[in-house]
Amino acid sequence: MKYRELVDVYEALSQTTKKLEKIAILTDFFKDVDSKDIDKVVLMSLGLVYPKNSEEEQGVGDKILMKAISQVFGVPISKVEDNVREFGDIGQATEKLYKEKTQQTFLSEELTVEFVFNNIRKIAMISGGKSQSRKMDIISGLLSSASGIEAKYISKTILEELRLGVGEAIVRDAISDAFGIDKKITERAYMLTNDLGLVAGYAKEKGEDGLKELNLIPGRPVKPMLAQLSPGIDLSIKEMGEAICETKYDGIRVQIHKKGDEIKFFTRKLENVTNAIPEMIEPVKNACPNEDFIIEGEMIATRDEKPISFQYILQRVRRKYDIDKAIENVPLTLYLFDVLYYQNPLIDKPLKERRKILERIIKPREKINLSTKVDVNVDNIFEAEKLFKDSISKGHEGIMIKNPNEPYIPGIRGKKMLKFKAEPETLDVVVVGGTYGLGRRSKFIGSYLVALKQDNELKTVAHVATGLDDDTLEHLTNLMEKYKRYDKGTKIFVEPKIVLEIAYSEIVKSPEYEAGYSLRFPVVKRIRNDKGVDDIGTVKDLKAMFKS
Ligand code: ATP
Repeated sequence: MKYRELVDVYEALSQTTKKLEKIAILTDFFKDVDSKDIDKVVLMSLGLVYPKNSEEEQGVGDKILMKAISQVFGVPISKVEDNVREFGDIGQATEKLYKEKTQQTFLSEELTVEFVFNNIRKIAMISGGKSQSRKMDIISGLLSSASGIEAKYISKTILEELRLGVGEAIVRDAISDAFGIDKKITERAYMLTNDLGLVAGYAKEKGEDGLKELNLIPGRPVKPMLAQLSPGIDLSIKEMGEAICETKYDGIRVQIHKKGDEIKFFTRKLENVTNAIPEMIEPVKNACPNEDFIIEGEMIATRDEKPISFQYILQRVRRKYDIDKAIENVPLTLYLFDVLYYQNPLIDKPLKERRKILERIIKPREKINLSTKVDVNVDNIFEAEKLFKDSISKGHEGIMIKNPNEPYIPGIRGKKMLKFKAEPETLDVVVVGGTYGLGRRSKFIGSYLVALKQDNELKTVAHVATGLDDDTLEHLTNLMEKYKRYDKGTKIFVEPKIVLEIAYSEIVKSPEYEAGYSLRFPVVKRIRNDKGVDDIGTVKDLKAMFKS
């Protein structure tokens, strides 16, 4: 298939903000795509060449792309930056440069979807020596064989910033409509595989029955089921009737996969962090059965068997060098709380059965424990309250209140699992910009402009400047420089990569910020390396919290 055909669809999608119209455009398009290209086209309609959450990382930094653009169009990099600043969008900036170019490229052969897809994948796979210049060569090759409008979308895809308002739900519905499949079946197939390209391929080739064959596979991570806030222990247990209450540990969630002899650890962002925590492999092998499985738990950092700050564990899983030293300085402990696969997929079984299986197959030892739990009902709510007090006194965060009769639904934040914490609720936001400080702090970015999600857009909500010591300021400043899009005087604007968890005293209405609301006295609690822009809070949540 010609890349130009996909570009025409991108253009049509950019002409409407209506969800149903976007679904209809994609439905018509998907119907006519060959089996050979359907997986690629589906991923590319989301601006991706790897399924979301896959172990491969697609994006390259703005800087490499801008350098390649300046090379192809023979203009200084400052001109590319000026154009990006003017449009606020690298795709449009590229198209404009293309139009200004006096000597047009002779397009000998039209680009195909397959060629563009494979080359953008190649860019992501390059690592090691001279990787920058090798990446630039591929980008230059692609851009110089493209037309202006193709170059626009190639640039956007390379940066993973298609911004057409097309999210997973829209593509999922279009796949269902194009191939006449019940939406629930498509949704489930996606939930279990995390790969809409694969789902579309099955839908086209094998229909509903084929999609039903797709299931969990150890080795392929699934999105974790998430928790809602509990309004109170008493109230939540009365609503559920009965509950499994567990200590809430303050670390990072890990999904442990065993396939054959291989053990892998994935974070809640489905990043593979196995290499950073090699000391956990033997204990897992010793405590868990010698069969394929998917088990979930919370991994915390401990000293003298007591939990220590959450930041340590983030440093541990990020670490690439001096791992031996880190193992010694920051020992880890795992608390297992769920099993998703053992011999067979188990997610459809109720939690109480899954927990029984977990208790049967795990032999707690060394660094591996089962989460502490109590079974409660309306007659012994005090047991849950006691667990809460005990958990807090041992330095943990609170308790989880889980419905024992519910299945595990990947990626869903529902009433099946609630969290009750001692500390007030915080908000996860993404940094989109910042301002360098004054005087002694002029080397650092002292104030961070942060945003929340609204549909597929980001809306600014506050500036946060407190809660950061000098080391963290330096670390954040380096990250901001790494993700810099452009700067203006002392202000800097960055790609939305850094997630901060912030506490605040109050939500207030504010026309100054795009969200229409802002936060009073925001304080950075921590940097959330384990979260990405998809995991941040939404303007909708903020409004609901304001009203309540
Ligand atoms: P979320 O995961 O809900 O987006 P978050 O990462 O900020 O938000 P919390 O809101 O504090 O985490 O609470 C939910 C998280 O608590 C789970 O994702 C898991 O990582 C952690 N957790 C700790 N102990 C348990 C437990 N016993 N059972 C389930 N989750 C637990």
